[in-house]
Amino acid sequence: MPEEILQVENIKKYFQISSDQTVKSVDGISFSIHSGETFGLVGESGSGKSTLGKMIVGLYAPTSGTIRFDGYELTSDLDRSTRRKLNREVQMIFQDPHASLNPRMRVGDIIAEGIDAYRLAKGKERQEMVYSLLEKVGLHPEHAQRFPHEFSGGQRQRIGIARALAVKPKFIVADEPISALDVSIQAQVVNLLDDLKQEENLTYLFIAHDLGMVKHVSDRIGVMYIGKMMEIATSSDLFEEPLHPYTQALLSANPVPNPRLARKRERIVLSGDPPSPVSPPSGCRFRTRCPYATNICKEEEPAWKEVRTNHWTACHLY
Ligand code: SF4
Repeated sequence: MPEEILQVENIKKYFQISSDQTVKSVDGISFSIHSGETFGLVGESGSGKSTLGKMIVGLYAPTSGTIRFDGYELTSDLDRSTRRKLNREVQMIFQDPHASLNPRMRVGDIIAEGIDAYRLAKGKERQEMVYSLLEKVGLHPEHAQRFPHEFSGGQRQRIGIARALAVKPKFIVADEPISALDVSIQAQVVNLLDDLKQEENLTYLFIAHDLGMVKHVSDRIGVMYIGKMMEIATSSDLFEEPLHPYTQALLSANPVPNPRLARKRERIVLSGDPPSPVSPPSGCRFRTRCPYATNICKEEEPAWKEVRTNHWTACHLY
């Protein structure tokens, strides 16, 4: 197995929203990602998945815990040049391609922002890099002169991808990169990201709210619920043998083309919204929506366990 490029250890992010209220957006999560892997991270809104992604790229400072990338502890005091190198190597693709592109800048200059900031090229070489990036994401060199509003949502996301690739990253956090796009073009963008992963030797943290979106591109998948990780497994194990009742509920909401799997899958209806991360339930956070909850689920938080080889979950049923 390739070495781990990212290690997240007991990471927490709390937001103080008033004198007596704290949102525990991410509340003690540990996991790692292997070099060259696509790790899908799934959860409903408010699960903390985007907050986790923003801590990894350095947009949020963790409340506690550590993040190690390529041997460096991102959460420690690093010297300026190491911090700069790591900032370049870990890039983010944002959910809303419309909001993340400056409407007053030409596309070529948007893509070259990182090239300029890290002084990777100038003049003719810079221009050639921009043209080649546009072609790499399925656009044309002449698009460099246009403005973001002249493009469709899918094309704008391609521009966002080219901008992230411009600084030659090793690791990309793709934060719901297809959620804002028409269903008809979602698969194209996912396929593009998958192709680029192979061509550019990238590792991805692919964040989505729906398991179906990450199924085909992820090597492993993590399922989050109100700031906690509920389950991590390979994509095939998670879909064939989901252990956690929350994962089972998410999957039972998805139609299954395979009749064998459909028979195996018990239907668990996920009613209502998740509880607020300001006052999450005691014990297991999923207990207020779990059909199997018993007294212990209220009293004790379930331990994070490797129930099968490389298949982890936190549930008192195991
Ligand atoms: Fe359900 Fe209890 Fe397992 Fe939580 S620990 S998922 S409430 S059975």
